[in-house]
Amino acid sequence: MTDTIDIAANLAQVRQRMAAAAQRAGRSLDEITLLAVSKTHPVGLIAQALTAGQRDFGENRVEEAWAKFADPDSPESLTSRLSAADRPRLHLIGPIQSRKASLAVACRPALIHAVDRLKIAARLDRLASEAQIVQEVLLEVNVAGEASKFGFSPLELHRDAETILALPHLRVAGLMTIPPYEPEPEAARPHFVALRRLRDQLAQRHPQAAWRQLSMGMSHDFETAIEEGATIVRVGTAIFGRRDA
Ligand SMILES: *Cc1c(COP(=O)(O)O)cnc(C)c1O
Repeated sequence: MTDTIDIAANLAQVRQRMAAAAQRAGRSLDEITLLAVSKTHPVGLIAQALTAGQRDFGENRVEEAWAKFADPDSPESLTSRLSAADRPRLHLIGPIQSRKASLAVACRPALIHAVDRLKIAARLDRLASEAQIVQEVLLEVNVAGEASKFGFSPLELHRDAETILALPHLRVAGLMTIPPYEPEPEAARPHFVALRRLRDQLAQRHPQAAWRQLSMGMSHDFETAIEEGATIVRVGTAIFGRRDA
């Protein structure tokens, strides 16, 4: 039950599992960001996570992100309740529809994870230009080639990368993927490896971008993702409990 959940204990447990996975892979935990995916959960639970030291939060719906994290006119929103130093860093992790792009930029997210086509990249660039900011983004890749999924195919990404990197108000920081759901985390490993290899190829061909970030791994497979190079893991259920929606 949501009201009896111990967010601080869940966060501690996830961090411990992250540390163990990093150690197995000979990596430093410092290079891996835990993103607490707070979608569908109320601001009260996010405040508990903040108190427990969690700083980075992920939302997949733009309006929900705006209401919970950014809306200056809402007494509910964390922005109006907290001083600048205590504010969470918002990550938008869902697909951005064209007509939501303006609100997405207005949320001033630390990172937009799911830029999945050239058209939305161009639109975000224009909106960031109007806002006089440079928006940090990741490019979403459909590594498994699922017909139903969002994201660039590796081929499309090789074709469009140069154009996207030339957009002056976007800063491409790396890649993101959501592999097909399989209950066994080991099944996701080849997809994580594929994302890392694609990143390495892009970094070689397009050294003008940093390509540092690999946003991959969720509650059931973040340890596998860390073993394969994830720099951001997106964890919802293991921190906040099951979502009703
Ligand atoms: C909901 C969501 C997550 C978190 O999933 P859990 O299984 O609850 O950890 C991660 N990434 C994206 C893009 C999501 O939409």
